[in-house]
Amino acid sequence: MVRLILFGPPGAGKGTQAEALSKQLQVPHISTGDIFRSAIAAQSELGLKVQAYLDQGTLVPDSVVIDMVQERLSQSDIAAGWILDGFPRTVPQAQALDELLAKIKQDYTLVLNLQVSESVLVQRLLGRQRKDDTEEVIQQRLRVYRDETSPLLAFYDLSTRLVTIDGAAEVEIVNARIQEAITAC
Ligand code: AMP
Repeated sequence: MVRLILFGPPGAGKGTQAEALSKQLQVPHISTGDIFRSAIAAQSELGLKVQAYLDQGTLVPDSVVIDMVQERLSQSDIAAGWILDGFPRTVPQAQALDELLAKIKQDYTLVLNLQVSESVLVQRLLGRQRKDDTEEVIQQRLRVYRDETSPLLAFYDLSTRLVTIDGAAEVEIVNARIQEAITAC
C-alpha cells in the first residue's frame, strides 16, 4: 500500500512522475491542478470559482482546495493507495490533510521533494504549452512557491518520511530513485 505526497515547485516534474508511478503502482493520481483545469474546461461552478486564480498563478483559497481533496479522498478507489500531486501547498492545507487522514485512519508513506534549480524550472515551464506558462505567470507561481509552499518543507522535515530527490535528472532516473525510496521505507 503506497500513499505518496509529491512535493516541489512548478516544473519540478511532479505531474510526469505521478503519472508514471500511478501506472507502475496501480494507484490513483490525484492532481489538484488537473481537477481545477477539468472544472474550468467544463465551466462548472468550481471551474468558474477558481479560473482567475489559475490564470494569475495565485493559490486557490485553502477552504476550496481542502473541501475538494476531502471529497476526492472519500471515493472508493483510494483504498488501493494514492499519489497526491500539487497538494498540500500551504501549511494549513498540510494540517488539514493530517486531520483528514487521521479521520479516515490512513497515513502517508512518503513525502517526495523534487528539487530543481529556478533557472531549470523557468526553462522547462516556458517549453510547455499550458495557459499559465507565460513568463509573467511563471514568475508569479515561483514566487508563490517560495513564499507559501516551500515553508512546508520544515513542516514535513519534522518527520523521517521526507525524501529529497534531484528532479533535474532524466525522467527515468528520477523515477528509479523514487522507486528506491519507496522500497527502502
Ligand atoms: P499545478 O497543476 O499543480 O501547477 O496547479 C495549477 C494551479 O492550480 C496553481 O497555480 C493554483 O492556482 C491551483 N492549485 C493547484 N493546487 C493547488 C493547491 N493545493 N492550493 C491552491 N491552489 C492550487
